[in-house]
Amino acid sequence: MPEELDPFKISQQQLDSAAEVMNLDKTAHEILREPMRTISTSIPVKMRDSSTEVFQGFRVQYNDARGPGKGGIRFHPGENLNTVKALSAWMTWKCSLANIPFGGAKGGVICDTKKMNDIELENLSRGYIRALGRFIGPKLDVPAPDVYTNPQIMAWMMDEYSKLAGHNEFGMITGKPLEVWGSEGRFDSTAMGGMYVLREAAKLRKLKIKDAKIAIQGFGNAGKFAFELSKKLGAKVVAISDSSGGVYSENGLDYDKLSKAKEETGELHGYDGKKYEQVSNSELLELDVDVLIPAAIENQITKGNADKIKADIVLELANGPVTPAADQILFEKGVLDLPDFLVNSGGVIVSYFEWVQNTQNYYWTEEEVYSKLDGIITKSFKDVFATQDAYKSQKKKISPRTSAYIVAVDRVAKAMKTRGWY
Ligand code: GLU
Repeated sequence: MPEELDPFKISQQQLDSAAEVMNLDKTAHEILREPMRTISTSIPVKMRDSSTEVFQGFRVQYNDARGPGKGGIRFHPGENLNTVKALSAWMTWKCSLANIPFGGAKGGVICDTKKMNDIELENLSRGYIRALGRFIGPKLDVPAPDVYTNPQIMAWMMDEYSKLAGHNEFGMITGKPLEVWGSEGRFDSTAMGGMYVLREAAKLRKLKIKDAKIAIQGFGNAGKFAFELSKKLGAKVVAISDSSGGVYSENGLDYDKLSKAKEETGELHGYDGKKYEQVSNSELLELDVDVLIPAAIENQITKGNADKIKADIVLELANGPVTPAADQILFEKGVLDLPDFLVNSGGVIVSYFEWVQNTQNYYWTEEEVYSKLDGIITKSFKDVFATQDAYKSQKKKISPRTSAYIVAVDRVAKAMKTRGWY
């Protein structure tokens, strides 16, 4: 992987830029450039033909000065330690920006879930917990779903952990199904949070959401629900893609028909025998739309395509979709590029609510969850733009990402300082 696309190098570069602008203490900077703890493990898994396959897994605990580690587990064929390290750093900034009492962590396993059946997936999920269980827990580090993991996998992991502990430990993981004390509103919380951010961004840009054209890259946990919620807001989603490509319609795509067809055939082509116009993933990013929502994986907008982006607002619902070089180009072009750890923080904010509910054994309604989520994420948005304005008044022009970094890093540095770590 070229150095400029190495996610961990990117996360360090982003931190360095913010550290310089905010004049971060040197020791605090040194602590925050590397994870606190990195764990690699081999997980033997019984497969359907009784053979045993050995999978490589990771958990990185980046910083816990403000609370237990928090962050998802990815099951991805291209997983690697450096990506997990970067994602654990981003979780640290995400929890801090949202001002929830967690640090940051992330996990991953190198595997191809598309080639595995449910029994194999269950064996792998339980194996991950047997290998790493002693390092995680409700007061230590709390995992959650991410790319190619889901509520069912969280339930298996919770069950395995509870067996090892000798008692039920629902709060050791979030994003669980409701039957085993997940939270109302968690399933679409990442996209819902993104929509609250979009509402605020639209006010800033004087864009009427009802007239907006939106393109979404990704049809997973985040992209699919962003599609559904955009429709509810009255916006027109003109393009959407999955990992094999996408579809486009100038008049807007039909959510119900397209997702039904995707469920039945596994493909994003069209519906009832009709086909939408095809677009590749890279063409989708360059469409003439008002809002572009990268909701798939990292490194999608790079210095190679950043100047071809036509959207006025980029809403980073994926983790790490824009490289630093691209970030700079978008900023200079005047595109409002809203950083991932603000836009997609709805997932972890509702994970926090789930953990609180598990801890107090008292459960909230969906309305309560959404309204509390709105309160937290809107406050984060305002913190980011108030910081940007404060620097502007000192004649320093900083991007929303640098501004968000400053808010988040400052809180973690202050917690470390107050605890006497430097
Ligand atoms: N995987 C999600 C993220 O990247 C959610 C993490 C969580 O809920 O802990 O933010």
